[in-house]
Amino acid sequence: MQVNLLNVFTASERDYNIDYVLEQDFIVVDGRKKNLSEMINFKGTLTSLGKDDCKLVGKIKFSYETVCDRCTKDLNETVNVSIDKEINLVDTEEEFLEGSVLDLDKLIFEEIYLNLPVKTLCKDDCKGICSQCGADLNEGTCDCDDLSIDPRLAKLKDLFKEV
Ligand SMILES: [Zn+2]
Ligand SMILES: [Zn+2]
Repeated sequence: MQVNLLNVFTASERDYNIDYVLEQDFIVVDGRKKNLSEMINFKGTLTSLGKDDCKLVGKIKFSYETVCDRCTKDLNETVNVSIDKEINLVDTEEEFLEGSVLDLDKLIFEEIYLNLPVKTLCKDDCKGICSQCGADLNEGTCDCDDLSIDPRLAKLKDLFKEV
């Protein structure tokens, strides 16, 4: 969605409401394509602050299908991002601004990538899976020796045995 910031405000109306759903049905996270289970949507308001300035306030929300980083269980991650951004038309440094035209998609993706969760976990205290047999440790313990010993430490242990 492109918004020409010179055209959206009128003499009597300094607010421009946006309720927008992006067409793209996936998002790339860490180089992997994830399907969206809830489309990326943005609800917010552009407010004129004078000749060259305006402000964008609103919320981005979407969900995507992914897996738990520890136990690889399927899960649905919901992302909420609040935007509160002043936009200066003279400041052409911004990637999402081309002249007076605001590329809302670009701005939204910029904000999304700044705010994606670093870790996705099915629950905060997920115990993950056993590195040896692959058992889900949330569902109980497995029979593996949970003190999987580093070979260097194993040697050390043998030394102690000899003493
Ligand atoms: Zn998990
Ligand atoms: Zn195991």
